[in-house]
Amino acid sequence: MDLFEYQGKQYFARFGIPTSPGGIADTPEEAVARASEVGYPVVVKAQVKVGGRGKAGGVRLANDKQETRSAAEAILGMNIKGHLVRRLWIEHASDIAKEYYASFTLDRTAKLHLGMVSAKGGVEIEQVAAEDPRAIARLHINPVEGLTEEGARKLVEEASLDEEAKDQAVAVLQALYRCFVEGDADLVEVNPLILTVDGRVHALDAKVTLDDNAAYRHPEWEEYRATELEDEREKLAREKGLNYIGLDGSTGIIANGAGLAMSTLDVVNQVGGSAANFLDIGGGASADVMAAALEVINTDERVRSILVNIFGGITRCDEVARGILDALGRVELKAPIVLRLDGTNAEEGRAILADHLSERLIQETTMLSAARKAVEMAAQASGGAR
Ligand code: GDP
Ligand code: MN
Repeated sequence: MDLFEYQGKQYFARFGIPTSPGGIADTPEEAVARASEVGYPVVVKAQVKVGGRGKAGGVRLANDKQETRSAAEAILGMNIKGHLVRRLWIEHASDIAKEYYASFTLDRTAKLHLGMVSAKGGVEIEQVAAEDPRAIARLHINPVEGLTEEGARKLVEEASLDEEAKDQAVAVLQALYRCFVEGDADLVEVNPLILTVDGRVHALDAKVTLDDNAAYRHPEWEEYRATELEDEREKLAREKGLNYIGLDGSTGIIANGAGLAMSTLDVVNQVGGSAANFLDIGGGASADVMAAALEVINTDERVRSILVNIFGGITRCDEVARGILDALGRVELKAPIVLRLDGTNAEEGRAILADHLSERLIQETTMLSAARKAVEMAAQASGGAR
């Protein structure tokens, strides 16, 4: 899970990484209020989970109320690389002498942590890596040993940070590494890490990606979940306990078991179609779960047909059949269903549905024929386009 900059900075603060005082605002009025709290001049910053906000006009300096208000008005509602700006972070503006870069991440190939520092911050690190790779100092860190002071100093020296910034940078790097490890992050990145005109090193930006696998030991992450502007369907699906991932094709997919769901995706591709999602209703799926799955898929505008592929094991096909009927009674499905039921209680399941089959609810006996039918129907519905 990615954090917004302001959340990343709050996360940093817990580990003693210095940042500028600031506050969040969802309206121009709130922006003005936050600005007077932190003191002018301020920076008004778009909170979206994508980099390059500065270039896109999502970061603006403001010297007074009027400038803050107009900056906030301009930035709220802005679309930055497909991300709608709904929230701002207002912080006291820093006087920048130098912009550096610092990050910790996992190097999967080396099976070690990787620290990177550069004196060329403020621009995209990919660009620095492409144009001047030697400007990035790298250090592999054994996670058992952690980042020693010598290690941090090596990074700082190799990156040729300014003399007066070095000691503070070493301390910031060690704190940042602790944040990365103890904070269970996959990535912590500070770009830029600045040296101010009056000689202080601090984080001007924050990118933190938390390791979702560690969520169980961080109940406090719930607050980040709450602000995650995730796909509405993914949210709905999680509330219903479904394993759903949105894709951009036109055939909605429901299967029981992750393996079968993957195979279904493959088969849909194989017959020339494209999947609108991955949805695994799991084992022992009840009528309620089936209905919920159909509801979730029904909210996807792109879906032109729904392929339900069930191989009953623990999941009983009669339960699934009842779930489908139940869902048909609850929601008006926008797309037709093509169904393949096999395995435990398949006969019973098919019998339950027999009287309800129509152009909107089609039964096929094999996975391949069901996929063909579903893809064909999706193509018809979108006028030939898949
Ligand atoms: P990003 O473009 O999404 O990475 O957003 P950043 O938070 O990194 O801000 C982009 C740029 O805005 C920085 O590299 C700085 O040059 C500038 N900026 C951000 N905050 C301040 C500030 O407090 N003072 C000044 N002078 N510039 C700032
Ligand atoms: Mn940045």
